[in-house]
Amino acid sequence: MIAILRPGTTKAQTEPLIHWLEQQGLKVHVSVGDVHTVLGLVGNTEKIDMDMIQCLDIVESVTRVSDPFKTCNRKFHPDDSVVTVGENGPQFGGGHFSIIAGPCSVETPEQILYVAQKVKESGANLLRGGAFKPRTSPYDFQGHGEKGLKMLLEAKAATGLPIVTEIMDIRTLDLFEEVDVIQVGARNTQNFDLLKELGKTQKPILLKRGLAGTIKELLMSAEYIMANGNENVILCERGIRTYESTYTRNTLDISAVPVLKELTHLPIIVDPSHATGKSKLVPSMALAATAAGADGLMIEVHNDPAHAWSDGPQSMTPESFRDLCERIRKIREVIEK
Ligand code: PEP
Ligand code: MN
Repeated sequence: MIAILRPGTTKAQTEPLIHWLEQQGLKVHVSVGDVHTVLGLVGNTEKIDMDMIQCLDIVESVTRVSDPFKTCNRKFHPDDSVVTVGENGPQFGGGHFSIIAGPCSVETPEQILYVAQKVKESGANLLRGGAFKPRTSPYDFQGHGEKGLKMLLEAKAATGLPIVTEIMDIRTLDLFEEVDVIQVGARNTQNFDLLKELGKTQKPILLKRGLAGTIKELLMSAEYIMANGNENVILCERGIRTYESTYTRNTLDISAVPVLKELTHLPIIVDPSHATGKSKLVPSMALAATAAGADGLMIEVHNDPAHAWSDGPQSMTPESFRDLCERIRKIREVIEK
């Protein structure tokens, strides 16, 4: 349920209503906009008498929200949410656009440092690299685990780039203390126990769309994190499984960007690398996603794609990434209001 307050309603006037609603067992999500304050009510709102609230002088309107996702719903929070990495780090959402780049897997200290320096020079704002790798085959490289995280942290210390890396098992959470953004990969989007525990942290969470996940399922997964107290969620469209799998690894759903913009206040970024599986397709999809209004991109970049330990065919070289960054900047200039 949402209650929109009349313009000019003061905090002192609002507090008794919030207090009363909380006494009814509801969680009240307050969003203060330029004109209106919106109270988003989460919990069992069935027993709340809507007419009674509607009669209050400070209330302009009351409506029930039938969508199953509440806290991430734009109706609860009409303005875009901005997710800030660290104290003064890169931002996503509300007009802020950031680029995450780096190899699929962290391979060696030299490799991750080299790629970090290169992508930073080109304008990337965050460094990616997998230490815990979800691989389809148990015989493929599984990532260096804790040692890989250490290599990433060294690259962070040397370049100043904040780091993004995937968690697969909540038992490793302690190892992620100095990780700036924790990624939940497409294979874990509906690992609800993992999402609940990440909801108890305050780290930004990069939540990828499931392999064959619907937009509603993605939002419900975000809701799991937010319902547990962490509102720093960045959504990521990374392509979905369709009947096409010969020419593209997945099918990039660019329409998910404007659809999600309407449904939620959370930032949404696009990963054209996993979406297409082919480096030659990455630039056009990255530009299209930028033009469609994405709040950022995640792009795989490798020093030597032909010899990458994972996802070489979809990895860009540092040189082609640099050219792409310039073109992304031009698209941003065109679409910025
Ligand atoms: C990744 O980004 O490293 C990854 C494994 O991607 P996805 O979960 O989208 O397949
Ligand atoms: Mn990859």
